[in-house]
Amino acid sequence: MTTNYNIPESIDQALAMINEAGGQARFIAGGTDLMVHRRQGNENSPSLIDISRLGELQQLKIEDGKLVIGAGVTLHQLAVHPEIEKAFPLLKTAAESIASPVIRKSATVGGNLLVDNRCVYFNQSEFWRQAVGLCLKCGGEYCLATGGKKACYSVFVSDLAPALIALGASVNVLSSEGQKAMPVEQLYSNIGLEPLSLPEGALITEISVPVRPAAKTWFAKLRPRKSVDFTNLTMAICFDEEKQEVKIAVSGADMGPAVHCEAVPFNYEDVLKSLRKNCRMVDNLFYPRSYRRKMLEVYLKQGLSETGLL
Ligand SMILES: Cc1cc2nc3c(=O)[nH]c(=O)nc-3n(C[C@H](O)[C@H](O)[C@H](O)COP(=O)(O)OP(=O)(O)OC[C@H]3O[C@@H](n4cnc5c(N)ncnc54)[C@H](O)[C@@H]3O)c2cc1C
Ligand code: SF4
Repeated sequence: MTTNYNIPESIDQALAMINEAGGQARFIAGGTDLMVHRRQGNENSPSLIDISRLGELQQLKIEDGKLVIGAGVTLHQLAVHPEIEKAFPLLKTAAESIASPVIRKSATVGGNLLVDNRCVYFNQSEFWRQAVGLCLKCGGEYCLATGGKKACYSVFVSDLAPALIALGASVNVLSSEGQKAMPVEQLYSNIGLEPLSLPEGALITEISVPVRPAAKTWFAKLRPRKSVDFTNLTMAICFDEEKQEVKIAVSGADMGPAVHCEAVPFNYEDVLKSLRKNCRMVDNLFYPRSYRRKMLEVYLKQGLSETGLL
């Protein structure tokens, strides 16, 4: 397959290029997710638009009570920024939990928010998938992970998204429909086959996170190895003492992020029940569903007690 590779010099040019391509192009930032999907035959757009050199997407600053992160900032830049370490330890921990040090030097924040959903039947070579039989997400007739359902349960795996959602971050999106700012959780449809809820050709330009001096935060990620492995369950918690509100966000457990926001004090059993309901896990990651469900409860208890809420 030959690829038409484009390097725009501005955001306007990037948007013009993607609109002109009429659904036949994808943005590429660090390429650490997209290129793997292309190698495995799960993504085959004829054109790529390289946004990694756009200076307009590189800002990283704390100003007017908020942190502004350009979509093109790398996970490494986010993790080593001294002010972020002080004001947003949750973001540093989440960024450092992703992939490996080398990958984090290319992988971007925008790309992480839009990382594709995963499933052991999907993230395989074309040869493997053909041999086993194609599932719904690869053009087959039913879901292999559930033994025949007509829905896809591929898992939302971004580790930065739960941290940003817990902190109440919003994202700025540009498309042919104009500019829109929305809470990070609204990027997602929670539908396995089409996990994003964005207009075609939309570009994330920046993420904005309110500074919360009175916040206590917590983060945990379940995976076989401490590096390189994708999540099997990630939980981020932010307890805002000033607002007396707790926000919990989970990835690795459903087709989109599972989010629960609650005034303090709250009933622990109600929170657990709500999260369980929103985490529709099936057996399609490394760890079995039963273990991941158990760990959801373990993490919730641990996170709430370490933020002083239990
Ligand atoms: C070995 C390995 C381990 C990994 N481990 C993890 C992990 O633990 N956790 C995790 O979350 N991820 C993991 N990843 C996936 C990936 O590295 C990260 O999610 C990374 O942050 C993706 O960013 P990127 O810039 O490379 O995205 P790309 O691959 O360039 O793009 C990803 C998607 O986002 C779109 N996109 C990128 N930027 C924008 C933008 N500004 N606006 C609109 N669309 C955009 C692209 O079109 C594409 O659809 C891993 C990858 C590898 C190879
Ligand atoms: S959840 Fe089912 S349909 Fe979705 S990728 Fe996995 S096997 Fe395919």
